[in-house]
Amino acid sequence: MSEVSLPEVAEPRHFIGGKFVAAQSGATFEVINPATEALTTLAPRGDAADIDAAVSAAKAAFDDGAWSRAKPEFRRQVLFKAADLIEARSEEIIKLQSLEMGGPIGPEHPGPHPMISRSAWNFRFFAEEQELAGNHSFNRDDSLLTYTMSDPAGVFGLITPWNGPFMLSTWKMAPCLAYGNSAVHKPSELSPLSIHILCEIFEEAGMPAGVYNMVLGYGQEAGIPLVEHDDVIGVSFTGSPGTARDIATRAAASLKRTSFELGGKSANIIFADANLEKAIPAAAMSIFMNAGQACIAGSRILVQREIFDEFLTGFEQAAAMWQPGSPFDRSTRLGPLVAKRQYDRVMDYIESAKQDGRILFGGGRPEGLDTGYYVAPTAIVDVDNSARVCQEEIFGPVAVIMPFEDADDALRIANDSSYGLAGYIWTESQTTAHYVNHRLQTAMIWINAGFDRDLRQPFGGIKNSGLGREGGNLSREFYTETRFTSFPLTPR
Ligand code: NAD
Repeated sequence: MSEVSLPEVAEPRHFIGGKFVAAQSGATFEVINPATEALTTLAPRGDAADIDAAVSAAKAAFDDGAWSRAKPEFRRQVLFKAADLIEARSEEIIKLQSLEMGGPIGPEHPGPHPMISRSAWNFRFFAEEQELAGNHSFNRDDSLLTYTMSDPAGVFGLITPWNGPFMLSTWKMAPCLAYGNSAVHKPSELSPLSIHILCEIFEEAGMPAGVYNMVLGYGQEAGIPLVEHDDVIGVSFTGSPGTARDIATRAAASLKRTSFELGGKSANIIFADANLEKAIPAAAMSIFMNAGQACIAGSRILVQREIFDEFLTGFEQAAAMWQPGSPFDRSTRLGPLVAKRQYDRVMDYIESAKQDGRILFGGGRPEGLDTGYYVAPTAIVDVDNSARVCQEEIFGPVAVIMPFEDADDALRIANDSSYGLAGYIWTESQTTAHYVNHRLQTAMIWINAGFDRDLRQPFGGIKNSGLGREGGNLSREFYTETRFTSFPLTPR
């Protein structure tokens, strides 16, 4: 055991117009440490008044033009500096994130934590994209030349979840800000701590005040006014499909653009000819990483019948590597769930699985961890794909494992889902891999590999897993206003 000390927590504040401020109402909400169930601190409970102040600051900054009309080179320099500062403060960020949502701090790294490097990379990537990407021009002989411009669009609302609070926030923020917009960010009420460091970093990096604003609080009290605000041009949201429906309905009233990255119930399809030495640990990683609180988790594991028993034995051994423990112990790979509500939800699914199937291993609170929202790595077998645990996103360290006969049978089960986010295919046969790949109703597929991100990928989902794509030039389309100008080359 090598336990790391808890980080110091500055009093959480909103960040509006370049200043850290309390809620106008003075109201607060409790921030609970999921590993101990103890109160960490109180955070400002934002509402419509705070959102209004933040949107005003964002709009004033946008209209001022110091960022929106700045040279792309200036924005690149500021965002590169922010990326460097993120890496320099990696340890601080990762500790606050562990404290707010329970993700393990992980082993010591020679450089920045990989998750934090990915956050820095989001800024570097879009800082360069906005500077290097060109526009289009079309000429119709010499009678008409048209060129396009992708201009900053205005003030965006960014609404993010708690399961990867820092990295997922930068994922939205980086393109939004790089293309010259202003933002009002509403992080999840379950992860209001690590984001403060980013506010400090933007200030230090030289981003003009008001370009980035952050309001803490609940979805019902701070999220809804942000979505409904007349001066917000669009909303990028990552979270659950139910919330997305509510946002879509409200955004429709003012014809706002929306981008939704939502949940998943992704199939991890393992054929008899797969390299099991790679597929089994990857299957365990896919569902137990972040205690299963990952949108792209391979939560339905489909295994060809010939190797089903062999897979179960191997998977149980691989799961033993994911023993729960304190997120501040450097050897821990599986921390607690984020909050009591998530713990109760996961336990409820496990109870239902006792009726609808059989618990192969796990299935409750791990021995010796009586406090904190811990759930042991769990596998459910003898279950039909129509069961709740196969159809609904559990968002916990809970895998359902089902046998299939052949590729068509695997596709039948995999596609019988209201979700379509990720998919994983393990086979040594290219023919099988591509046959399944082209018939799998899901937006992001990895063949013989676990989740890996290239920021040019069109990230998003189909069905209930999302609407729209972000990444590379698709982020550019969402976060800019594309206009064209036409004129005759030969005077008429
Ligand atoms: P959630 O939908 O409950 O909340 C997400 C955010 O929306 C929070 O900031 C919340 O305060 C806010 N919110 C809630 N109600 C709102 C409303 N009516 N109007 C405006 N804002 C509102 O989701 P969660 O539990 O925080 O996150 C988990 C979900 O996110 C899972 O379904 C997971 O799969 C999904 N997720 C998806 C991706 C992806 O990229 N596809 C990534 C991470 C998480």
